[in-house]
Amino acid sequence: MTDIKSMTIDELKKLMTTLGDKPFRAKQIYSWLHEHLVTSYDEMTNLSKSLREKLKEYPVTALKMVDVQTSRIDGTQKYLFRLSDGNVIESVLMRYKHGNSVCISSQVGCRMGCRFCASTIGGLTRCLLPSEMLDQIYRIQALTGERVSNVVVMGTGEPLDNYENLLRFIHILTEEGGLHISQRNLTVSTCGLVPKIYDLAKEKLQMTLALSLHAPNDVKRRELMPIANKYSMDEVLEACRYYFKETGRRITFEYSLVAGVNDSDEDARELSGRIRDMNCHVNLIPVNPIKERSFVRSTRQAVENFKIKLEKCGINVTIRREMGSDIDGACGQLRKSYMEKQKARSDMRIYSATDVGQKRKMNQDYVFATADPVGNLPNLFVVADGMGGHNAGDMHPLMRLHLWWRKSGRMRILIR
Ligand code: SAH
Repeated sequence: MTDIKSMTIDELKKLMTTLGDKPFRAKQIYSWLHEHLVTSYDEMTNLSKSLREKLKEYPVTALKMVDVQTSRIDGTQKYLFRLSDGNVIESVLMRYKHGNSVCISSQVGCRMGCRFCASTIGGLTRCLLPSEMLDQIYRIQALTGERVSNVVVMGTGEPLDNYENLLRFIHILTEEGGLHISQRNLTVSTCGLVPKIYDLAKEKLQMTLALSLHAPNDVKRRELMPIANKYSMDEVLEACRYYFKETGRRITFEYSLVAGVNDSDEDARELSGRIRDMNCHVNLIPVNPIKERSFVRSTRQAVENFKIKLEKCGINVTIRREMGSDIDGACGQLRKSYMEKQKARSDMRIYSATDVGQKRKMNQDYVFATADPVGNLPNLFVVADGMGGHNAGDMHPLMRLHLWWRKSGRMRILIR
């Protein structure tokens, strides 16, 4: 492994020996990377020049911020970061009275296919490295100058589908010598990969496990979440009981309310029946509609009603507070719209470039087109550089754009 920001202290010590340096250097490097959050070896001023040179073979992961949106209501910020391979990911900073919380992505895209989720529409591109998960938090802390005290792995991706990297991320995040965030201030959310829940329970970590339930029975859950075809609700709930038994940590059930799908009195009753014996807490989330799907969020009244019904059965319930509602798109939408714009640009081709540099009466210069219209961008761009010479850029008053669809499906474009 050459990804230095994903290395534990012990691995760094081994690396120092390999490089012919003293093991105590490992602690210094670890502190520069995970406590001082530097992004280059040049900033590690207590290391010798020769060691810094040798270390350049081990690139330091540093995400580049591409975009940030800030809520005028509560200061919530959505960040778009570019990875070294050009992929982009999204992270969110939420400012609460008790401290700053960062929601990070664990994968580029997702393959779980939940029907209401924007992050999964393009499928999975790849898993994030531990360093790429960590650096979302590091960059936000460095950019804002504000300490991050809580972390939730609830952004794009299924963290338990990136299990080994997730564990390494947790260890580095919570270890002394780095940000040293308490495990109790960490939440990992899963759609319910049962065998991995058992594995995680055996780690006996003190973090919170959030389980995306979203339905009171298998039939309804399968409609919303393909993973429910693989693991039944009974199996998922059993795994959650085991998690509690091993860790003593109460499970959070996430339940996104979709109008007319999972928000009736009967749904609340059925859900209560299944989880009332568990040490748990239910977090109700009015579904955030995405344009690709026709799901409608439950009314405020329906959400309140659902909450009361669960509470009557002795279940602990909260309604997720909406943060940054003025910048809110659903999870993964900032990334999605950025990628759509990028794609529109890369799809542009020169379909016609004729009579360049010639003296002409007829103008038929450059025509760029995108394969499909994207968002509010036009799908046809024409650059006709005028009638040449001193009038370049002017458009002749009689200039017309002619388009024909040919039988072959190709378009013929003529400007005259
Ligand atoms: N893959 C993990 C974590 C990512 S999503 C998981 O499934 O838990 C974090 C939470 O937001 C999940 O509960 C997910 O089901 C929910 N979610 C995703 N898109 C949503 C939307 N449009 N409206 C409401 N909740 C959504």
